[in-house]
Amino acid sequence: MKKPRGVADILPGETERWQYLERVIRELTRVYGYREIRTPIFEFTELFQRGVGEDTDIVMKEMYSFRDRRGRSLTLRPEGTAGVVRAFIENGLHKWPQPVKLYYVGPMFRYDRPQTGRYRQFHQFGAEVFGTAEPVADAEVICLLMDFYARVGLRGLQLEINSVGCMSCRQALVAALREYFRGKAGGLCSHCLERVERNPLRILDCKEEGCRELLKEAPVPLDFLCGGCRSHFAAVQKELAACGVSFLVNGRLVRGLDYYTGTAFEVLVPGIGAQSAIGGGGRYDKLVETCGGPPTPGVGFAVGLERTLLALAEQGVELPGAAAPEVFVAFAGERAAGRVPAILRRLRAAGIATERDYSGRGLKGQLKQANKRAARWVVIVGEEELDRGNVSVRAMETGEQVEVPEVALVSWLKERLGQ
Ligand code: AMP
Repeated sequence: MKKPRGVADILPGETERWQYLERVIRELTRVYGYREIRTPIFEFTELFQRGVGEDTDIVMKEMYSFRDRRGRSLTLRPEGTAGVVRAFIENGLHKWPQPVKLYYVGPMFRYDRPQTGRYRQFHQFGAEVFGTAEPVADAEVICLLMDFYARVGLRGLQLEINSVGCMSCRQALVAALREYFRGKAGGLCSHCLERVERNPLRILDCKEEGCRELLKEAPVPLDFLCGGCRSHFAAVQKELAACGVSFLVNGRLVRGLDYYTGTAFEVLVPGIGAQSAIGGGGRYDKLVETCGGPPTPGVGFAVGLERTLLALAEQGVELPGAAAPEVFVAFAGERAAGRVPAILRRLRAAGIATERDYSGRGLKGQLKQANKRAARWVVIVGEEELDRGNVSVRAMETGEQVEVPEVALVSWLKERLGQ
């Protein structure tokens, strides 16, 4: 049996890296005051059609949708924000003290063309802030995002920011885009051809070669901002500068989802190939309303964790690997063997990573095993020592061996393991 294309088995050796990223995420969100939310892996298809947008690549081409036994259309979540917004509304989080700051970590599903950095099941860490339209919130989520990369050890990242405008300044942009693309319809892909009248903004992030060529001369979102959006964007930049976060304004930057209003941003890392975007996000002040909730502004981001790991590998950043056992318990003789289970349990209960031999090897074989497993200490349970109420403990690095009273073994080891 083979796994489907575009999904991965994450094996021991690699899971430690994932756990490391997750530890950084949990620690960083704690200090920033974001609380975890876990939403379902599948939702009603309509949520993504309404939330992400009918004309986006995600909804048009990339969703894993299926009917359940009652004929209802369900979809494996292609991104995290729509589900979080649905949960926010359904559980009345708008009645909590605002702003509500949430984060999530988990798998997302898109029927994309698999290649390095692009998978059909991939994982995102995302954060969302609901209930404040203030530019400081935009800046805070960007700071959190950049701190995440810094903490895991990535260097040389490029943060690009833009404003795609609110609904009112967008009207002029949409009209200008329509005008521009109507004259060039021949060069557009079939999806974008449909988008000219329906939703020309979506052409701005089409990945097709022909469309990209036409985009070079197309109207730029940043040139169409109303007064309010312009001052909001200026305030975000001022706040970022005050936080010491460097960025580049890219007036052409748009995001692949319909729900963004105002601030949009993306983080790029050079050197990991075509899939250089390792995270992005922006403001979505109309999304809660679009999904049936009370008017509630929001801003957030999502990080691609596979791409983060790829970038870390590319930059040669060492991440924690498999941890070796701290202690190996070996024994000689039948009476000694009878003491091993209790000693093992006591050490493990004390939080000491402890291993044993499973194949009935003699003492020499067990010591070989301990060496192979790179254990720091070996506890040797021998009959003569037992008669004195002791066990032997050998430091594998130096070969030095001492006798320790069995009753004092845990505290003796803990002291030396620095616990
Ligand atoms: P998006 O939700 O499209 O804004 O994507 C946010 C981040 O998720 C991107 O910057 C990527 O790092 C990551 N990402 C998106 N799609 C994929 C995919 N198919 N495979 C792996 N990572 C992805």
